[in-house]
Amino acid sequence: MIRPRVLPRARKVQKVPFVELYAGRLQGVVSSGSDQDRVYVSYFEAGSGNFYCSTNNNRPCGGLRGSPCKHLVELLNEGVLQYGAARVIAYLGLQAEPDKVKSGGELLRHIKGGPHKVEAGMVFSRFLTYLQYVSVAPTGVPLPDMAWFVR
Ligand SMILES: [Zn+2]
Repeated sequence: MIRPRVLPRARKVQKVPFVELYAGRLQGVVSSGSDQDRVYVSYFEAGSGNFYCSTNNNRPCGGLRGSPCKHLVELLNEGVLQYGAARVIAYLGLQAEPDKVKSGGELLRHIKGGPHKVEAGMVFSRFLTYLQYVSVAPTGVPLPDMAWFVR
């Protein structure tokens, strides 16, 4: 069993229910501050530093005007909390010193990319799969639907 890292504070799962380092991106799902039925899908790409934010229905985020919106900042904050600054910096290939970073937002000035659209479904479908596993009771035995991967 892999033990999760001990977090300096609890994750804000109401605000950022999903964050992951996957497929060369820090990506996740961020709740709307004003509409509780709306969520945003946000990502930063490793290397290029490109980013994007849209609703899960691919409507562009109104706060995204050439620079990262508040959802992307929240994603960075929660990403650094979840994985630690060193891992996020290394994954995204940023020129920042992990020891000096106190919050993800401080990494913004190291991100050199611009808005670049990806289909929200690429991230949102992973969130939905994640939710399925969250609802499974904790167990040490293999899950049957993972047996595909066992040889
Ligand atoms: Zn946004």
